[in-house]
Amino acid sequence: MDVLLPRFYGMCFGVRDALAAANAHPAPHRVTLFGELVHNEQVNSRLAERGFRAQPEGERSLPTTPEVLITAHGVSDRERARLESAGLTIVDTTCPLVRSAHAAARKLDAEGRFVVVVGRADHVEVRGLVGDLSRFVVIAGAQEARRYEADAIGILSQTTTSPAEFEAAVASVRNHNPQASVSVIDTICKPTRDRQEGLAELLAAVEALVVVGGVHSRNTRELVRSAERAGVRALHVQSAAQLDPTWFVGVRRVGLTAGTSTLPETLDEVYQALVALDGIPSRV
Ligand code: SF4
Repeated sequence: MDVLLPRFYGMCFGVRDALAAANAHPAPHRVTLFGELVHNEQVNSRLAERGFRAQPEGERSLPTTPEVLITAHGVSDRERARLESAGLTIVDTTCPLVRSAHAAARKLDAEGRFVVVVGRADHVEVRGLVGDLSRFVVIAGAQEARRYEADAIGILSQTTTSPAEFEAAVASVRNHNPQASVSVIDTICKPTRDRQEGLAELLAAVEALVVVGGVHSRNTRELVRSAERAGVRALHVQSAAQLDPTWFVGVRRVGLTAGTSTLPETLDEVYQALVALDGIPSRV
């Protein structure tokens, strides 16, 4: 069995840099992680062992440590001000591409537009994106678009939305709102776009796909869904130990990829385990 990897996969620079900042912090016991730094149980338990406190995502009570670490997903300015006015020192690891999405949302809002965000309403990044807006709605995709009481609409997306879903959502908002001038800012991040494109190439070349990533990782589940949409069966695992050899019976070419919160060493372990099942490793 050949094991093929896409051109882009795994941990993005935003998550990697946030993790590096946490790892470099000299006094973890002084810090509360404001939500999950990465959707990866292995990493989160290592951080806990180092002394970081963790506040569950969406939990709004004020941390009791003197410092609070904002994750790569960012928070709204309102939330940042609330933390600062409580006397907390902020360790900010917001990804620069999430900051760009915030700037886009603020621009559309300042133009007086009703803002439509394409993404998952309960995702921490989206809560941060809409937290400073005056009029907005979050839609998961084209099917949730409606007519809005607005003559000017602005559309942007969660950074990890698939480009195809975003395009379909924009078209649907336009169709439902012929009365409105519509301005679109594409805020899908480059690592997400690269990974989707790399995956499309890979899916055309394999019979099955293994996706490595946390159970709560949205982009990992997106990778699985993309494979299924392309008619390629997919196996989602968190580690090499979860590989079931019987799943690969009859498979000659298997693809391997990983979500943005997967550690390179975890991916490597899975890669080695797949290669050990049988065959010669190769890349597309
Ligand atoms: S997925 Fe994109 S926006 Fe989110 S942290 Fe990674 S690079 Fe930044």
